[in-house]
Amino acid sequence: MAEVKEEDLRFIRRLRERDHLLVDVDSQVLKGMCKDGVIVFGCGDGDQSVDMLVTHLMQKVDCAHRPHLAMYDGGAINLIEPSLIPEKYRFSTEKIINRLELIRRLKRISTILIYSHYPCGMAAEAKVPLPMIIYYNLEAVQILRRKGWDRKRIVPLFHVDYGRLNKNTYYIEKEKQGSIFIKD
Ligand SMILES: [Zn+2]
Repeated sequence: MAEVKEEDLRFIRRLRERDHLLVDVDSQVLKGMCKDGVIVFGCGDGDQSVDMLVTHLMQKVDCAHRPHLAMYDGGAINLIEPSLIPEKYRFSTEKIINRLELIRRLKRISTILIYSHYPCGMAAEAKVPLPMIIYYNLEAVQILRRKGWDRKRIVPLFHVDYGRLNKNTYYIEKEKQGSIFIKD
């Protein structure tokens, strides 16, 4: 399991309390967006997937209708070029985008969650620090937008495992991308 660092927890607290980049998920809004189904694109970490998908998405948000999973170790990090994830483990950007577009077309699901998380084993393997996990999630939003996805239907989410069974999911404010790099 990837390890939690104290400095990272401080950074998450800053993004929550000062920068408001990580905000509480508006369950009513998200539930409404998922009513025809939802594509979940993210990292399929077995230590977190039950909390992410069952506890948060299905039980807290009540978004349990037709969740279509597109899970790759490292999630959105796979979309970043040049590759950060070692090539032998990586899914190519083109294939992931093609698959997401295929799901959208075949299943007629227009809402997509980009679900990143911390601590992420593949992010650690690829030496991607916490701020960049969040940054790359928002980069993935831009990549999908450029491919013609409706920005309003792209939902960037971030899951944190604080340890001792304390876990939470936040919405990443798309407009505040720059605040990731503002110094303390
Ligand atoms: Zn992961």
